[in-house]
Amino acid sequence: MSADASNSALATKVASGALQITIANDSDFTIQLTPPAKPLVEKATNPQPKRARIVQFRCSRAVLNEHSTFLSGLFRSRPDLTIVTFENKGTGYGYALEVWLRCLHNGANTLPHNLKATHTERAWVAIGVGEQFGFAPQHIDKIKPWFLDCYNHALNNGPGLTPMTACCLAFPCSVFDHAEGFMKLTKYLAYHTNGNIFTHNPSTFQALNQDARILDGPLTTARAHIQSVLDKELFFPLDKLHRATCTCRKETAFDYQEALMALECWPVDKAVKKYPLSEIIDELEKLEFTPKATNCPSGACHHDFKNSVNIAMRKAKFAFDGLCLDCMERSQADELPRQEFLKQNYPYKGCWDMACRFGHGRASWYYSWMGSSSVRRDILAQYREEKVKLGINNRGRRGRRGRRSPQEVSAHDDPTIALDDSKVSSHESNGGSDKESTHIKLEEDIDDDDEFFDAEDAYLEETD
Ligand SMILES: [Zn+2]
Ligand SMILES: [Zn+2]
Repeated sequence: MSADASNSALATKVASGALQITIANDSDFTIQLTPPAKPLVEKATNPQPKRARIVQFRCSRAVLNEHSTFLSGLFRSRPDLTIVTFENKGTGYGYALEVWLRCLHNGANTLPHNLKATHTERAWVAIGVGEQFGFAPQHIDKIKPWFLDCYNHALNNGPGLTPMTACCLAFPCSVFDHAEGFMKLTKYLAYHTNGNIFTHNPSTFQALNQDARILDGPLTTARAHIQSVLDKELFFPLDKLHRATCTCRKETAFDYQEALMALECWPVDKAVKKYPLSEIIDELEKLEFTPKATNCPSGACHHDFKNSVNIAMRKAKFAFDGLCLDCMERSQADELPRQEFLKQNYPYKGCWDMACRFGHGRASWYYSWMGSSSVRRDILAQYREEKVKLGINNRGRRGRRGRRSPQEVSAHDDPTIALDDSKVSSHESNGGSDKESTHIKLEEDIDDDDEFFDAEDAYLEETD
């Protein structure tokens, strides 16, 4: 990057072959882009590259001064400056600068049609250019409408939402504060990918890769959470058979696992090495399993295996709503006094999405956490204590662990409860007082989750 004071001779010489773009009618300052120092790629199929040219943007000094920390610093040290020159850093660079300048001067609604972003690469270049010129992050909202167009275009055209689209747009969604898109894409990534890559930067601004890595940790652990939910639920009938006394239990257990293995869904930790969770969950739909034992004395072999698998599918599908930008923001505001910070991040009556733009359950809150893990642990511990005081805990526990008396009903045995869990697990607060059966199920969910989150916290404590 270089800043040259202009003299009239230089300006004339440059103007002769330059493309001049008027951003402000009363312009009093020029930003000039010179062609890249060396071509990035020589394409064999295109032996005569387009003639690179100088581009000049005619701007208002006052507008630039107001919106760029970098340029205002430059103006202070060089009050007589009328032109500043930068090297064009390749694909989309001049285009992104024009988007920024037009939005800062005249608003996003004045953008000409040719500046509409039809490729996700544009979003990354716009972030890179914005940071380089000091427009971002402070004024990122000025070009947010342009980004939303880019986002909608990517999702509604061509292949639409794919792992690659999500990898390209999840990080830009966080930079542009697009909470809905961010939640949707991070959820998609957790369910539809099984590698350890969550971002793809198609631009030449490779320095942004470091920032984008912020998604890796939360999405890796969120995916492990969904996996553990699926694993535990599919194991539920086996657990029941293990505790039975009939001789047929062994064959039933073997056959049940074999049916799952035939679909390549079992063991789950083996399946996820091969397929994304969404495919495993969908595949389970095909399960056909009828135990051979017709006269099981213990009754355990007459268990409704199909229903258990349906519950496993449903619980896994709703185990994670995606990452929440508002929770991320709130949990890293560490300049607040501790009590105030805890208050802001504490759930309200079991609702983990207070003041968030989009509703979500506890898993999203948990994996969006950007503060210290010990504070998160404190919040969860306090929350559990509160539940114990309210007497919720005992009722919730009994359904799923240890021996149960025959008259006790768990979600697995009662389809009317099981069928109602889709919305609830992600919007705990929305259950009205008339939904008693839902609440029983809901508290069970919470307690099942507790075990996972306890284990997760213990793990973090060990590795801290
Ligand atoms: Zn049996
Ligand atoms: Zn949130």
